[in-house]
Amino acid sequence: MVITRFAPSPTGYLHIGGLRTALYSYLWSKKNSGDFLLRIEDTDLKRNSKEAADAIENAFAWTGLSHDEKPIYQSTRFDIYKSYIKRLLDEDKAYKCYMSKEELDELRESQRSQKIRPHYDGRYRDFEGEPPSGVEPVIRIKAPIEGEISFDDGIKGEVHFNVKDMLDDFIIARSDGTPTYNFVVAIDDALMKITDVIRGDDHLSNTPKQIVIYEALGIKIPKFYHVPMILNNQGKKLSKRDGALDVMEYKKEGYLPEALLNFLVRLGWSHKDQEIFSIDEMIEFFNPSDINKSASAYNEEKLLWINAQYIKKLSSSRLIEELRFFDLDIKNHPKKDELIDSLRERAKTLKELAKMIRAIVNEPIDYDEKAYKKFIKGDALENLEAFKQALLVHKECKSASEFEALAKKFLEDKGLKLKDLAQPLRIAMVGSAVSPSVFEVLNVIGYNNVIARIGKLLNYKGKNDE
Ligand code: GLU
Repeated sequence: MVITRFAPSPTGYLHIGGLRTALYSYLWSKKNSGDFLLRIEDTDLKRNSKEAADAIENAFAWTGLSHDEKPIYQSTRFDIYKSYIKRLLDEDKAYKCYMSKEELDELRESQRSQKIRPHYDGRYRDFEGEPPSGVEPVIRIKAPIEGEISFDDGIKGEVHFNVKDMLDDFIIARSDGTPTYNFVVAIDDALMKITDVIRGDDHLSNTPKQIVIYEALGIKIPKFYHVPMILNNQGKKLSKRDGALDVMEYKKEGYLPEALLNFLVRLGWSHKDQEIFSIDEMIEFFNPSDINKSASAYNEEKLLWINAQYIKKLSSSRLIEELRFFDLDIKNHPKKDELIDSLRERAKTLKELAKMIRAIVNEPIDYDEKAYKKFIKGDALENLEAFKQALLVHKECKSASEFEALAKKFLEDKGLKLKDLAQPLRIAMVGSAVSPSVFEVLNVIGYNNVIARIGKLLNYKGKNDE
């Protein structure tokens, strides 16, 4: 049984780097018919907030990645951590350290002057006397004093840490009794029977400490996969400016969650030269051992491209549902499917799609100045007036091809070219010279509204002339 977890600390929003490791953890558990847990690491009561935790849960819900069981909040588990601290004390695997602040400062200073790594010197490790009064002790774990801590990372291969270079008897509970970060991570991973820990490689240096705790508990360590970072185009750590955004910002920009997940799965992992993966395909092909050893580069163009692929294929009912987020409700529009289908190929984001649809659905309030100057000149208005008459004579047109046939006949009769009519007509319909096929637009707008919009442009010019 594979059990994985995603363990965000609610200090802020859910970041796409976090979402990527969550996705990898999710896929790996599902591939093995296992469980995927969401654990909110909120023991740092000063830095964590309920709002941030809620925001993470909401963002997570938007992505559609479902976790098994309810989210686990570490802040509800202090009693459990306390009981394990007590157990390690009872088993003499941890001890109370009464070093005062002054002693610690002195130790640091002397290590600095000797140019040696700052570390705790173990002075209370075997202390048996009367504890000094007035000092609330911290609890430290008895870590190995020499040798190596090594493990076989599923991405990085064998990783070795020389104990002398990086470890000391680190604190597992502060003087106020609260447990420290590495302690609770290891305790929870152990208690939740996490078999595979997939996380960012910024956590690599925490791993030896967590292994010390596992060993003190006598529990087999999980398999670790430390995923390289996402970098920007300049090879630097991804910053906000590069798109290291709150996952919910992607929603606001008009990305579909499945497109974002597809983009993220490919950032650091590949399967042949396939670019588009459904979640089921990701589950089928993903293996964390295939994650790239080197960092990957964020590429916004690629994200847009992937999003466009999803917009092209999504059912219109789902697109209509998604567009509601952009304050656009076309559920009851008589030509909603035509509207979607005539525009979906041109939109890279839902936000763009909403804008294009809005331009067609709503009568133009104003006309694009440049387009107006360029195309509403010469015989343009007369032609529009004549076309309006032709529409009235013809009676209702019910499809794009009917509008097209009527226009063709009209142009032929008048000895005109399509361009003489198409651009003025576009301006009358949507206020600018850009729109998909003008006949599709006419069809979606509908016969009566087409006539009304032509009338409106004719009047508009009239007003200008006054
Ligand atoms: N809480 C940590 C973070 O948000 C992750 C801990 C882990 O995955 O082990 O970066």
